[in-house]
Amino acid sequence: MNARRRQCRRRAEKRCEDNKDWDRRARHRCAGAERSGRESKTQTTARSNLTRPGTPRKLPTPSSIRRPMKALVTGGAGFIGSNLVDALLARGDEVTVIDDLSTGKRRNLERAIANGATLEPVDIRYGEAVDDVVARTRPEVIFHLAAQIDVRKSVADPAADARINVEGTANVLSAAQAHGVRRFVNTSTGGAIYGEGRVIPAPEDHPSAPEAPYGLSKWCAEQYCEIFTRLHGLSTVSLRYGNVYGPRQDPLGEAGVIAIFCGKLLDGGTALIFGDGLQTRDYVYVDDVVDANLRAAETDTTGPVNIGLGQEKSVLDIVEVLKQNAPNGFDPEHAPERPGEVQHIALDPSRAREALGWEARVELDEGLKRTLDSLR
Ligand code: NAD
Repeated sequence: MNARRRQCRRRAEKRCEDNKDWDRRARHRCAGAERSGRESKTQTTARSNLTRPGTPRKLPTPSSIRRPMKALVTGGAGFIGSNLVDALLARGDEVTVIDDLSTGKRRNLERAIANGATLEPVDIRYGEAVDDVVARTRPEVIFHLAAQIDVRKSVADPAADARINVEGTANVLSAAQAHGVRRFVNTSTGGAIYGEGRVIPAPEDHPSAPEAPYGLSKWCAEQYCEIFTRLHGLSTVSLRYGNVYGPRQDPLGEAGVIAIFCGKLLDGGTALIFGDGLQTRDYVYVDDVVDANLRAAETDTTGPVNIGLGQEKSVLDIVEVLKQNAPNGFDPEHAPERPGEVQHIALDPSRAREALGWEARVELDEGLKRTLDSLR
């Protein structure tokens, strides 16, 4: 055999080995779905992602190499929760949602319910009702997103805010502990807990100085998670989000500035800016937040973890980007500054990178474009 033929043969053998390796991985990734006895979406995705060497393929992420699991999402009819529910279903998980539909919407779950998710219309302030759902559904992981999220309501009625955000969280934690839940992923907030940024981007050990009862109740809920870890060994983590934006955020409600501005832009309205518009936040796209949740469920990291880009963006920056997507113009109007508003904050995502292997992938321009498209 001449040298050229030997080289060709070696290449062919190598291709063959590579293919065996990919087949082994494909079998491994599909095994869980097969055990569930049905052609799940995980299985379909695993097949389509596993292409032969030489063709472009999606790299497996830690959260995609896994068997399907049973998940409970509190607040799953809300903006972030419903995006998480869709992602869990898309990879073949069995999903139950607890939501009292106070701010969440049944229509956010229409597709999810058609794909097998179950909605339990339960208020987390009622511990027995929560316990009953967890006892019946036996989730391995609970993603706890249900909350009173309106800062102004928390100022007007701090006790009502605490009943949902503190007592409600304690109820969900108790049910998790009583029924052997493997992992509890709590949802928290960076800006509302840190208050005015003394160090920017703020690390998790930045002093906690909430400016409103909402930040205090979310911080308190984090402490309950840590008590349940210390007292009962329940595996908990608290993801401290920046300002989340993206599809399904309510442009008519009290939600973030991005949803409100996108709604105004599409209605031909103007952007109302309180103060000079130079106040900054760390805006994080909802798909990145969902990814952080999926990763957090598969680690045993405890305590708080910032979920942000580590970048400050001002309200004027947002208007500038939106203007580029507004053929008829989009000029801001200014109103007096609102007292008590945090001026500058951004979150240091170093711990999320190290502990969860997480990094935001969607920059503001791209995220705004996707949000506008979803509303159009
Ligand atoms: P959302 O209002 O869309 O979602 C909250 C969900 O919780 C809703 O579906 C609501 O019906 C449900 N809920 C409220 N009270 C309940 C109760 N007593 N019992 C059962 N369900 C109840 O808001 P969101 O923006 O999707 O927020 C989700 C989570 O993310 C919250 O925990 C919030 O504190 C946290 N968070 C949000 C942001 C953001 O920028 N949107 C930032 C930081 C943290």
